[in-house]
Amino acid sequence: MRPFGYLRPRASAEAVRAGSAPGAAYLAGGTELLNLMKDGVQAHDRVIDINALPLKEIEVSAGRIRIGALARMAEVAAHPAVRTQVPVLSSALLNSASPQVRNMAAIGGNLLQRNRCGYFRDSGFPCNKRQPGSGCPARQGHNRMHALFGASEHCVAVHASDLAVALQALEATVLTLGAEGARRIPFAEFYRLPGDTPQLETGLRPGELITAVEVPTGPLTARSRYLKLRDRESFEFAVVSVAACLTQRGGRVQEVRLAFGGVAPRPWRTPEAEAALRGRPLDVASLAAAAEAAVRGARPLAHNGFKVELMRRALTGVLTELGRQR
Ligand SMILES: Cc1cc2nc3c(=O)[nH]c(=O)nc-3n(C[C@H](O)[C@H](O)[C@H](O)COP(=O)(O)OP(=O)(O)OC[C@H]3O[C@@H](n4cnc5c(N)ncnc54)[C@H](O)[C@@H]3O)c2cc1C
Ligand code: SF4
Repeated sequence: MRPFGYLRPRASAEAVRAGSAPGAAYLAGGTELLNLMKDGVQAHDRVIDINALPLKEIEVSAGRIRIGALARMAEVAAHPAVRTQVPVLSSALLNSASPQVRNMAAIGGNLLQRNRCGYFRDSGFPCNKRQPGSGCPARQGHNRMHALFGASEHCVAVHASDLAVALQALEATVLTLGAEGARRIPFAEFYRLPGDTPQLETGLRPGELITAVEVPTGPLTARSRYLKLRDRESFEFAVVSVAACLTQRGGRVQEVRLAFGGVAPRPWRTPEAEAALRGRPLDVASLAAAAEAAVRGARPLAHNGFKVELMRRALTGVLTELGRQR
């Protein structure tokens, strides 16, 4: 690891000033940043440790939960209001990483973790995300874990965060503080698709700090679930995952939201699948129609075509489970 400077500010404005300098990076739990620095995938001149900032609170009020960016994954998953009012969030977090990582890692850091493409994490290979213009070996190489939707010729990596999939289905808002002041970013606009600039993963400005995530709550979020399909039960990233929220009235679907993980460079909402379910009973025919709508437009690579069927099954499984809940 290259030598770097270290700063631990006590006020958010001071952190933003320091974090806006070229070559600076924020440090929350460090479970991602330090690994990337040790492996030579990222290099920073200065690390701004944000753990002394007042960003740890989980505040519950009517119709929303506000989660500070430094709240730990384990703590958020175990919070009684999160477990009962947004179970999809609690479940997505409990299905992430290992207990040790969840105790250390923070909500903001989780949202900004990099993708798990093996070529990206091995600096012996070229990679457009690490070094723009150097190429994308995953397109022709090992791409079993890569994207079906939203990819470009420059990058086919998927977003790795389980939490982000739940927040997409919940229509959360990301709160930030930057040199130009505070912003509220709708979750659907938070991540960018790779296009011809795969190195830019979010719309955050240089030095912009995530301060909190705001999650709306109500009947739709209270009946919600996360299903993660992975290669082993112990800590592992999703091959395909799905977050779902559902309300029914008179035996028919009233409102539904579906977001998939493991299939695109950002959590992948499927409005066509949601439309195929609205107003219909949750039966075999409507589930099959929704599953087909969800996978329409998928563009498999050489090794990841099996994910199309996994998406159909994940959608059917999660909605069948939710349909059984009262
Ligand atoms: C063994 C292992 C298994 C894992 N499995 C999973 C899994 O199954 N699912 C999953 O979702 N994740 C998984 N992860 C990833 C893990 O969840 C992330 O490493 C973790 O959430 C990152 O949080 P952190 O607080 O440690 O971030 P850090 O490492 O401190 O920071 C990560 C990035 O976010 C930036 N950052 C941090 N906080 C802020 C902020 N408030 N504002 C602006 N920038 C900020 C940092 O500068 C850095 O670029 C796994 C990790 C490991 C090591
Ligand atoms: S898929 Fe993206 S991250 Fe992976 S090698 Fe290609 S450019 Fe790099």
